[in-house]
Amino acid sequence: MVRSWWFGIASLLSFASGVEAASIDCEQCADWNKGQAPFRIFGDTYFVGPRGLSSVLITSPQGHVLIDGALPQSAPLIKRNIEQLGFKLSDVKLILNSHVHFDHAGGLAELQKLSGAKVIASDIAAPFLRSGKVDSTDPQFEAIQPYPGVGNVEALGNRKSVELGSLQLTVIHTPGHTPGGTSWRWKSCEEQRCLNIVYSDSLTAVSDDTFKYSGDKRYPKASADLLASMAAISSAPCDILVSAHPDLAGLWPVIDEQGKGDRARLVDSSGCKRYAASAKARLEKRLAQEKK
Ligand SMILES: [Zn+2]
Repeated sequence: MVRSWWFGIASLLSFASGVEAASIDCEQCADWNKGQAPFRIFGDTYFVGPRGLSSVLITSPQGHVLIDGALPQSAPLIKRNIEQLGFKLSDVKLILNSHVHFDHAGGLAELQKLSGAKVIASDIAAPFLRSGKVDSTDPQFEAIQPYPGVGNVEALGNRKSVELGSLQLTVIHTPGHTPGGTSWRWKSCEEQRCLNIVYSDSLTAVSDDTFKYSGDKRYPKASADLLASMAAISSAPCDILVSAHPDLAGLWPVIDEQGKGDRARLVDSSGCKRYAASAKARLEKRLAQEKK
């Protein structure tokens, strides 16, 4: 990703001074933040993000769970999408995150503030979410822009799942793209039919110009972590996959910008396996390139 440090920093500074809402400028940001009408994925699970970055709402009578907040400038769009579905942001009681990069965690500070929700993140991810900055253990350290730090973040500890009322989300640790990456799995039902939905973190071997996935003292087990994460996603009970970057899963061949489409076609029990396999091919290519 090409950096636009000065734009990014300038926007954050103006955010700090209260002049305008936080916004990050990057090569893909405008594309990522394109409008997308919200839609039901299955049961009580809805897509509420922009077209280029996932944000998923899982609803219950006792409160809702939101996974990922896209870019800082995506927060108003996510709020609008939640309201368009007839839900209230103030009923979001729990916010989760895939990984601590600005394109998935950038909007969380604002969404947390507006909802008052508790944020739960892996022990490694929690301090980065609080600060809005990554450190050199992150493969993309030199290329990743800071974003507003998130309030009310609780570390996951050794919990295997998180609960909110009747909702239960199983933790799948997926480090490698970042050291603290996390994926989430839960069941949603329509009448008698219940399906496993997986929100998968990024499993891509992407880095700044200096990091080596073939071995780097900044994060020596990055590629071993990635392989384990791919195996975990590949073997997860998975009827519907939503990936942090939605174009890497099967959403957009099915659903249009108006949120219309035959959502029965989102059910694909091989989706997680294919997603993990393509990430593995990318890692292998990357390791071969590093050898040259
Ligand atoms: Zn990332």
